[in-house]
Amino acid sequence: MSPSTEISVVEVEAAAPATICMGCWDQMKVPVPIRGPFSVPFRVFGITQSKMNPNICTICERAFRRVKKGSHFTQDATILFSDIRGYTQLSETIDPVELAQVVSEFQDQCAASIWARNGIVNKQMGDGLMAIFNFPIKATEHTQRAVEAGLDIQRRCKTSLAQLSDRFALPHGRLGVGVGIHTGPVEIGEFSKVRSDFTAIGGVVNMAARLEGCAGAGEIVLSPQAAERVPELVERATERQVNLKGIADPVNAVILGG
Ligand SMILES: [Zn+2]
Repeated sequence: MSPSTEISVVEVEAAAPATICMGCWDQMKVPVPIRGPFSVPFRVFGITQSKMNPNICTICERAFRRVKKGSHFTQDATILFSDIRGYTQLSETIDPVELAQVVSEFQDQCAASIWARNGIVNKQMGDGLMAIFNFPIKATEHTQRAVEAGLDIQRRCKTSLAQLSDRFALPHGRLGVGVGIHTGPVEIGEFSKVRSDFTAIGGVVNMAARLEGCAGAGEIVLSPQAAERVPELVERATERQVNLKGIADPVNAVILGG
């Protein structure tokens, strides 16, 4: 019997399933049924739950211009990036079918943590993802929600990734999740003619991605601006000065976990 490479299933604390789309309601005050009998005629016209978050609908996802009456706008939001540290080594060691299982389970665990806090999984790129908090579902405490999601992702994935790391005796450090979080004004909208879904762009997004890039296995790396918004959550955090590619000055990053 071969040892399992699957990330162990932990209890999913799903957000309460909404009967109307929380995005359409928060952005337009329009009730779009996404569950229950009233959602049936909408489903006939292809309006269903979004894959970014099952509590928003495909109108929010693909009809940004109609929802926001423009191609893009500026929004205060928190951006979270997450990926598996040591993934390249793992991918060179492990059978591709098993690798796919690991990635799929990781993505599912991340999504559950993010959805439970009203964030959306905006992009998935192999073993990585980008989440947005505060659009289209509004949240006054969006930085706190993002950091809580980061902590939950670490908690869900820690044991199983450590077991995988031991099993394959990976040479350069252990497998684990790296998370980067930054907060501030981002530009949200449709920026491509070939894709119909929205995304967020701007310096805040780049910085969140760079912070994730310097996170070690098990670490959540926060920008000073994000840390400032969640004083209770960073009481026991450490600081590390990091040089980020494309960003002139060193950043005093705030580190949780590791
Ligand atoms: Zn919607």
